[in-house]
Amino acid sequence: CGIVGYIGHRQADELIIKGLERLEYRGYDSAGLAIINQDGLAIHKKAGKVKALRKLLSTEDTSGTIGIGHTRWATHGEPNDRNAHPHTGGKNRLALVHNGIIENYAVLKSALIAEGHHFTSDTDTEVLVHLIEEIQREGDLALDEAVRLALNRVEGAYAIAVIDRENPTMLVGARKASPLVVGIGEGEFFIGSDASPFLDSTKRVVYLDDNQIASISLEHGLQLRNKDNVTQPAFIQELDLH
Ligand code: GLU
Repeated sequence: CGIVGYIGHRQADELIIKGLERLEYRGYDSAGLAIINQDGLAIHKKAGKVKALRKLLSTEDTSGTIGIGHTRWATHGEPNDRNAHPHTGGKNRLALVHNGIIENYAVLKSALIAEGHHFTSDTDTEVLVHLIEEIQREGDLALDEAVRLALNRVEGAYAIAVIDRENPTMLVGARKASPLVVGIGEGEFFIGSDASPFLDSTKRVVYLDDNQIASISLEHGLQLRNKDNVTQPAFIQELDLH
């Protein structure tokens, strides 16, 4: 139901947790976050309040400067720890958070199971991260290209944020019929279901259009493409809030 993401030079965990607290007004049943650091990809998630996630994290090492977080409002699969986001594929390489519904998840899921994928949740969301992983592995593709190709095979409504352990300088977001906004800071970027999670860091924002994929990289900045791989201009707005 709520998405937060960060890539930059600061510790991501606290920024993400604070961001999730600012999205609590949207309502949710579970919360989680994924961080990449020198030890790899760490995912922590739990049914219940962001407060419970915060408590869980107090005994974990979640240092790292790239991460994503989520508050879930369950549509497919009951609200429990296993079904909470972020989800990962079989290789523990990608982490993905999702708002919305993947309508054709059942047919995609059976095809992926036939190819040897093993699922650990009852969500529609987990299908999407396995699909991205499969496409990325087959073509040895960059994360943003694998996301684009996967979304061409997906029906439904979504806002997503994805990170890749093998490329910790890139954060990818995309949306269709569910809001997603990118915040542009100084040497850092944010992503959110709305701008409230990062307003105290930056007021420069880009609202994604339907069917847009945002590649956010520390080297190349923000680049937008549509699902047909056509580059699109990013319209940066300066929010004027008092
Ligand atoms: N359909 C997904 C799920 O049930 C995402 C729900 C949401 O928007 O939070 O896990």
